[in-house]
Amino acid sequence: MLYGHFSTSKPHQIRTKDASTAVIVGAGIAGCATAYALAKRGWQVQLIERHAHIAQEASGNPRGVLSPRLSSQANALDQLSCAAYLYTIRLLQALSLAADAFQACGLLQLAFNAREQQRIQEVYARQFSTSLLNLVSCDEASHIAGVKLSHPALYFPQAGWINPHAFCTALIQHPNIKLHINCNALRLQQYAQKWQVLSTQGCIAEADAVVLANANDALQFIQSAHLPVTAVRGQMSTITADLHSQSLKCVVCTDGYMTPALQRIHCLGATFSAHDHSTEIRDADNNSNLNMVKKMSEDFSALSSIMQGRAALRSTTPDYLPLLGELIDASTLKQHPPKHISPPPALPWHHGLFINVAHGAKGLTTAPFCAEILASLMSHEPSPVEMSLLQALNPNRYLLSEMGLKRLISATSFR
Ligand SMILES: Cc1cc2nc3c(=O)[nH]c(=O)nc-3n(C[C@H](O)[C@H](O)[C@H](O)COP(=O)(O)OP(=O)(O)OC[C@H]3O[C@@H](n4cnc5c(N)ncnc54)[C@H](O)[C@@H]3O)c2cc1C
Repeated sequence: MLYGHFSTSKPHQIRTKDASTAVIVGAGIAGCATAYALAKRGWQVQLIERHAHIAQEASGNPRGVLSPRLSSQANALDQLSCAAYLYTIRLLQALSLAADAFQACGLLQLAFNAREQQRIQEVYARQFSTSLLNLVSCDEASHIAGVKLSHPALYFPQAGWINPHAFCTALIQHPNIKLHINCNALRLQQYAQKWQVLSTQGCIAEADAVVLANANDALQFIQSAHLPVTAVRGQMSTITADLHSQSLKCVVCTDGYMTPALQRIHCLGATFSAHDHSTEIRDADNNSNLNMVKKMSEDFSALSSIMQGRAALRSTTPDYLPLLGELIDASTLKQHPPKHISPPPALPWHHGLFINVAHGAKGLTTAPFCAEILASLMSHEPSPVEMSLLQALNPNRYLLSEMGLKRLISATSFR
């Protein structure tokens, strides 16, 4: 991976030849991080959000966990997860957030069942640097965590938790970014070489490029309605620390997570419910989160069942990889199918219409990294990551595959 050369320094101007104007739809982590990555390259950015504040939907939890999810092999998900994690941790260090907004307190992934035990052994066998991860015994894990744990674990010393709203706020402080709140984008159209974003009030913003960063709602626009994005409900919970649990010093994960107490409150989560688009708070989901953490440590067994919950929708794709890049006009492509050897410029592109969505359960790390890749692409810089990863993220991969044009996926991945 070539992510090592990315700049994570504080906002600054690097004017490129092609830096121009962009409208971004959606001010969650994907939209705010894309605004940041473009603004520091000299783009003038308008960020459109339908709520009165940024980070109100999936990016609105009080705290989220930052960690990679590695597997035995370096497949695309694994590469994205690892590179994005390292990038985002460095970005957060550069942003210098307050201690109540970000803590790199470390994170333990417990070998809590046979499948996790095997995965953890296989990941360890890949011989990563100890600054990335360590294999620790049950006693060592308990010592690191400050509570009694009954499983060995993978320990990520640089990982931790973030307040997503504070992260988003820090990202959009650049003077090149103008935020428009209470603006619901309903339609996109091209007019005189520009893209226009329309609401019930008419045209609310106009620019050379548009980036869709509105998660599941990207499907509301004709230009992106065909994309295979689905919503997955999740509920996280907050709970008051007790005498034992407040000793917890790092994040602990099994198939969920628990964060150390901040102002005596732990965050725990989260549930997964596919085919369920409700964001109501359910006692059953709070209890499921509580039962999950009680299995982590006997020191959590007396935690009270009085909890607050917050539910939101993740956005995901069938292969669990985000959609990132410029969109092809699906209906024109279907009406006039090209040959599989057609050169990319001959395809019916929606020139200037880009997307950064479907970050699933790890968007707090993947979205900022994808934003950096997208801004490179939009600024006509050399690709910052390997072609295989760009192909895996190509937003037209499903459309081209469906039409028997798989060979065009690589050719259209970084133009
Ligand atoms: C319960 C739960 C726990 C999670 N825990 C973690 C975790 O610990 N770690 C982690 O990395 N990830 C976690 N995730 C996943 C992570 O929160 C998401 O991947 C991430 O927030 C997605 O960000 P986003 O910007 O793509 O989408 P969102 O945050 O949903 O942002 C989309 C924005 O677009 C706006 N919008 C939509 N349509 C329009 C329109 N037409 N006009 C204007 N604005 C519009 C919305 O209002 C919203 O603000 C969790 C998710 C859930 C639900």
